[in-house]
Amino acid sequence: MSRAAVSAEVRAAVERVRARVADAADAAGRRAEDVLLIGVSKTHPPALIQQVVDAGVADLGENRVQELVAKVDEVVDARWHLIGRLQRNKVKDVVGRRLLVHGVDRTSLARSLSNRAVEREVVQRILIQVNVGDDPDKGGCHLRDVRDLVAYARDLPNLAVEGLMTIPPMPPAGQDALAHARPHFAALREARDELLPDFPEVVHLSMGMSADLEAAVAEGATMVRVGTALFGPRGSGPWRKDVA
Ligand SMILES: *Cc1c(COP(=O)(O)O)cnc(C)c1O
Repeated sequence: MSRAAVSAEVRAAVERVRARVADAADAAGRRAEDVLLIGVSKTHPPALIQQVVDAGVADLGENRVQELVAKVDEVVDARWHLIGRLQRNKVKDVVGRRLLVHGVDRTSLARSLSNRAVEREVVQRILIQVNVGDDPDKGGCHLRDVRDLVAYARDLPNLAVEGLMTIPPMPPAGQDALAHARPHFAALREARDELLPDFPEVVHLSMGMSADLEAAVAEGATMVRVGTALFGPRGSGPWRKDVA
């Protein structure tokens, strides 16, 4: 594969997002290095994604298994995260690729991942997705069920529960995105803090996107998932190799 030089536009976008994370970390008395920037590359072609990786964003997130699988061999030097909903019939395509799976929200899915990880003789790293806003359009377990789900999943073989993830509800039109999202991020942090004494491995908080990453970093995000601010507006559908 030929690697194009990183365009000035991509370099500037990466610098802008890095500066936003650094400023938010600074304001919160945190270190920017403690916030992993995940570039959400869904719909975008590998040539652009490679530029973002070459500009220093080595972690990439996709929300569809098929699209992720199609891209993994097209982009070099990247680490991948599955950030979307995962159906049980796709588990076989996920385990064994060294992904971090952010969206585990039910016991049946945790068990499927564990079974497959045992078969493949790998450890599958996961985050438990929590629907802190009780948003009917979003995946995630209820806040009151987090502890049971974490306890269940961490007792399954070959599964490593490394933290929690959430997607807050969309802000109503005209409302400030940061102010709207912040209490949801605070709720996830509080849930993690309550788990830590019993489950010290549940450290990560995957929260914050292009519009609200400052609020997430202020509330302790250790991973932010940023698409539009890095890659520009999304295409109309998933990227497919045969169409590109
Ligand atoms: C698309 C997506 C993002 C990125 O959203 P932007 O607003 O473009 O930054 C983050 N998290 C998840 C789960 C997504 O599906």
